This record gives sequence, structure tokens and C-alpha cells, in this order.
Amino acid sequence: MPSFLNRLFGWLPGRPKPRIVCDEAVWLAGASELKLRTLGGRRESGAFLIGESPNKEPKIIRAFVYYDDLDPHALDSGIVHFDGNKLPRLWQICRERRYRVVADVHVHPFHYGQSASDQADPVMPRGGHFAFILPDFAAGSVIPGGIGQYEYLGNGKWVDHSHAGASLLGLKRPK
Ligand SMILES: [Zn+2]
Repeated sequence: MPSFLNRLFGWLPGRPKPRIVCDEAVWLAGASELKLRTLGGRRESGAFLIGESPNKEPKIIRAFVYYDDLDPHALDSGIVHFDGNKLPRLWQICRERRYRVVADVHVHPFHYGQSASDQADPVMPRGGHFAFILPDFAAGSVIPGGIGQYEYLGNGKWVDHSHAGASLLGLKRPK
């Protein structure tokens, strides 16, 4: 699909193809909403990324579902603590839109490296789940190359794709 790939921001011939894609406008709007929800850098924020999970990659991110919209107290402590009892509302949204949870994203105060708890407690503890981390409370870089991009393999194992540029997440521009 060369025409499709040519519209992927950050994708260069010779690089691995993105394994998950998102319209650039959706991604940038989501990142700026996450920045707003940090209240000027006073707390972390985050979201489930829902969309299509075809048998063949790439997966497709269609929408952000913000943690604090489902669980009003998710951001209270400054670090994201999502109450698992609020998950049924997420499943309901996914059913209504015929989407699945394909990834998650949260912001960090400084660097986009995973914390010990990010590694120990995956948001979706199943192999093939992707997790993104935006540094600087989403006030700095929010695009591949400047963000954390992680793949969960299961059994506590992660692969760090952050340094591979756009090899995990590809942002798609309109025609
Ligand atoms: Zn974190």
C-alpha cells in the first residue's frame, strides 16, 4: 500500500513499517487534551486508546478515552491510578463503537522512560498491548522520535521501541 504509507508522518522508506497508526489530527488533539488535563503540569494524565485491532497489523487508533472521564479520581494523587471498577464503562464505549482497546498513553513530568510501576502494572496486561509515554507533561514533543513507545510481551516483559523513530506508531496525514 505505497500511497497509504506515503501519508504516514515520520515513515521513511527502508524503516520498519508502523505497527499502529493514528490520524495525525486525532493524535495531536489527544495530546493537547492530555496536556490540559495536567492542569499546567501539576499532575499526570492519561487515556485508553481505542480503535481497530485487525488480525494483521497495523492496528488503528480512532479515539482517546481519558482516564478521568471514566474515573473522576484517577488523577487525584498526581500519578495515574485508574480504578478497575470503572472498566465496564470503557467496555460499553468499545461495544457501542465496535472498537477495542489497542493501546494506552500517559504523560510524565520529565523523561518518557517507563517507571518501575509502569513496567510492573501494564494498563492492559496482555501480550501485544502498546503503551506510549509523552514527556514534559505533553508540553514538549508528542510525536514519534520524542516519546516513549513500548510493547508488552506478557510475563512482565517489555520491548522499548522509543529509539526506533516511527517504527511502532505512525501518524497519518490527510490526503
Ligand atoms: Zn508512567
